[in-house]
Amino acid sequence: MDYYSSHISKLIEELSRLPGIGNKTAQRLAFHIINMPVDHVSSLSQAIENAKQNVKYCKECMTLTDKELCPICSSQERNKKLIMVVENTRDLAAYEKTEKYKGLYHVLHGAISPMLGIGPTDIKLKELMIRLQKDVDEVIIATNSSLEGEATAMYISKLIKPAGIKVTRIASGIPVGGDLEFVDEVTLLRAFEHRVEL
Ligand code: ZN
Repeated sequence: MDYYSSHISKLIEELSRLPGIGNKTAQRLAFHIINMPVDHVSSLSQAIENAKQNVKYCKECMTLTDKELCPICSSQERNKKLIMVVENTRDLAAYEKTEKYKGLYHVLHGAISPMLGIGPTDIKLKELMIRLQKDVDEVIIATNSSLEGEATAMYISKLIKPAGIKVTRIASGIPVGGDLEFVDEVTLLRAFEHRVEL
């Protein structure tokens, strides 16, 4: 039975589908939203819709961007023969913050996880293979050091190596299971500089 108005129940239901939001948090957020000024609510829902409708995958590196080609792929300053493979756009942002990496990226949007039923075709791997038909010197695999991240790194390396492209893996200075985006810049740079060939 509905303790609340059906509209509030629906809002709670939608919010609780978001990652990390349990039923209690969803309830708290729903009541917070109900108490917000109406123009604030409109701008929130507008921001959600705009983000969804206008953000797309860069046609080269698959990161999320407003344009056909993201600013990194369209920059003349970047080394186009170097591709760093990351799990998501937040990891890309973490490396960009160091301002030291001058190559391009490839964003997989996930990692292979047999346990969760996520296979190679569920992430942006095919798109990476297409890019590798161009002149590429090195692919740096910078997936997380979680089980899934390591499995993905192994899979990609096996896939690419026969093509004769150098494949490296960032060093394991990163705590196991650590999300790249929470690792400080020094650790990130060290992991990059001490990458090893696979
Ligand atoms: Zn791009």
